[in-house]
Amino acid sequence: MEYKRSMIVYDLDSLVGVNQSESESSMGTSTSTSIVNQSIYIYVTSRFREAAIEASCTDKRQKNERWAIAVVRDPFLLKKFTTDVDFTFTNEQIEQDEEEHRRSTITLVCVKCRDLYVESDNKMGSCNYHDGFVYDNLARDLKKYKPSRAIEELNREEFISYTNPKKKEEIEKGKTRFKYICCYATVQVGAGFNGCKKGKHGFGNSRKKNFAGQILDKQMIDKWETACDENPEYNQQYADLFDSRKNI
Ligand SMILES: [Zn+2]
Ligand SMILES: [Zn+2]
Repeated sequence: MEYKRSMIVYDLDSLVGVNQSESESSMGTSTSTSIVNQSIYIYVTSRFREAAIEASCTDKRQKNERWAIAVVRDPFLLKKFTTDVDFTFTNEQIEQDEEEHRRSTITLVCVKCRDLYVESDNKMGSCNYHDGFVYDNLARDLKKYKPSRAIEELNREEFISYTNPKKKEEIEKGKTRFKYICCYATVQVGAGFNGCKKGKHGFGNSRKKNFAGQILDKQMIDKWETACDENPEYNQQYADLFDSRKNI
């Protein structure tokens, strides 16, 4: 007797398997994923494509039915397999794909270093920034500034020294008075926002907030600079600075 119906179940995680390898480069650590048992994978995908139910046969009992089931847990293997056998994607997979596409194509602006980035490349160490506020090192009251305010002030003074040469010398003396509390680096106009800390681009955890933030607005900058302003560690450092100058 010839069987008209057959079914085979493949456990792809065990039969095929996935190998992950890490490699170091100047851009950081990258992980690549590959299939362990290539020949079995090819065999299973081709058997899967052959799986069919003959539609032409009118007699149901004579119909040849070849069923195939694949069980996959590994996300990489699942994606590769469903793509290779043209399996219909679930809504969740489509959404994940779209999300991944967004993460690797939408250019965002980082409020911390003011540079551009895409979320999929956003790794630890990608962003260089100062996380402290600025103070006037030559002022008795060590007046606190938000970095963008300090830069505004320096720009304004540059203009004044150009239009009013009498003030040039005095302004020149004060040019380097603004320091970042985090590392005591001097605030310089045009030097960019690269700083003493290395981390990830972006401020805040919400992904949505990030995607909406493709254009840096004043509000975002202010939010970040307020966080720098309120940093308890640096405020302590600032208080110590006052103490150290008390008797000068
Ligand atoms: Zn710094
Ligand atoms: Zn950044």
